Amino acid sequence: MFLPGLCLVPMRPTQAVIHLGNLRHNITALMEHTARHDPNRRRPLFCVAVKADGYGHGVCEVAETALELGAEYLGVAAVSEAEKLRAHGVRAPILLYSLTDPTEFDTIAELRLAPFVADAAYIADLDRAAAERRRVIGVHLKVDTGMGRIGCRPAEARELAAQVIACEHLRLDGVCTHFPVADTPNSSFTREQAARLSEVVSEIRTAGIDPGIVHAANSGAVIEYPETWFDMVRPGISVYGYYPSGDQDRPLELKPVMEFRSQVVFTKRVPKGTGLSYGLSYHTTQDTTIATVPAGYGDGFNRLLSNRGEVLIRGTRYPIVGRVCMDQFMVDIGPEPEVQTGDAVTLFGPDRAGPSAEEIADLTGTIPYEVTCSPTARVPRVYR
Ligand SMILES: *Cc1c(COP(=O)(O)O)cnc(C)c1O
Repeated sequence: MFLPGLCLVPMRPTQAVIHLGNLRHNITALMEHTARHDPNRRRPLFCVAVKADGYGHGVCEVAETALELGAEYLGVAAVSEAEKLRAHGVRAPILLYSLTDPTEFDTIAELRLAPFVADAAYIADLDRAAAERRRVIGVHLKVDTGMGRIGCRPAEARELAAQVIACEHLRLDGVCTHFPVADTPNSSFTREQAARLSEVVSEIRTAGIDPGIVHAANSGAVIEYPETWFDMVRPGISVYGYYPSGDQDRPLELKPVMEFRSQVVFTKRVPKGTGLSYGLSYHTTQDTTIATVPAGYGDGFNRLLSNRGEVLIRGTRYPIVGRVCMDQFMVDIGPEPEVQTGDAVTLFGPDRAGPSAEEIADLTGTIPYEVTCSPTARVPRVYR
């Protein structure tokens, strides 16, 4: 347990506590879920998305936990994220989900990353960079079956696969796609995309080419669409304890991993009618007590929560009053407060009594993904 008074390392009161036990729980639950559907109880390979600093949780710590539990692959969006992992000693295969600038091809070769490829010029340039490094790069051919983002047309896939295997310094390690609406229930669009991918893979096989690992499923598809799992699944948000949307059934208990927390650093009694914070957008409706919390939008606590959000202190919810500032915000703790300076304040986290990232997302017009990504660099990540 974290005891602020006994902690030897001086630290800001505002922190993102990362509950690694919950992370383990989620990964294990997802692995069991995918195994349960298989007649032989075998699960597909797992590629855990650790892009965007592990959805804000810390790329290295999440990767370590996922690999300990048997995940085979890691997914990143930027070469710099993979550099961090390799510098940390991670040797597992790392998929690069985005296309990148040719100036980074050297690093891709050097660090043995597995990039997505989707067009002939990119494949040729990558082969050249690999040749210069005397390395062989394993690539995954990304097919656009309906996302409209990176990916070749299904009709081009066979030819591009043939181009890859003709390159002396490239290997075809996989063929894959991505789903835009797998977080909706009973999605025939998603099922058709999976069927499309199967067709493409058969064409590649018929041409005598081994497609490598076939993969497609993001969290929504892992949760609801077993027919999309193929050889490997690529969950992200579910690993961090959230469903991708509110639309699907929730067959698994997922536990939020991040707890964004702070402390009460100041309290003050104020009379009825007192205006608070920038713009004086809130006036107290009675004599009351106002607590100040040293977290703001400079920490990634959304300003749209001004006069809307709630926080959890000692098991009770209190309203955020006035505008959220860059570094602080205020909470009305009532006329007879039980709250004291030094009390922990939960901005969002796994405690069911308090706000979750999902609640914050609903209040601010976004999705839990953006909420867990939002704590900024000045918020220390504390691992438990
Ligand atoms: C981010 C990402 C995922 C994971 O998506 P979730 O919705 O977080 O599960 C999977 N595949 C690709 C290509 C991605 O970019």
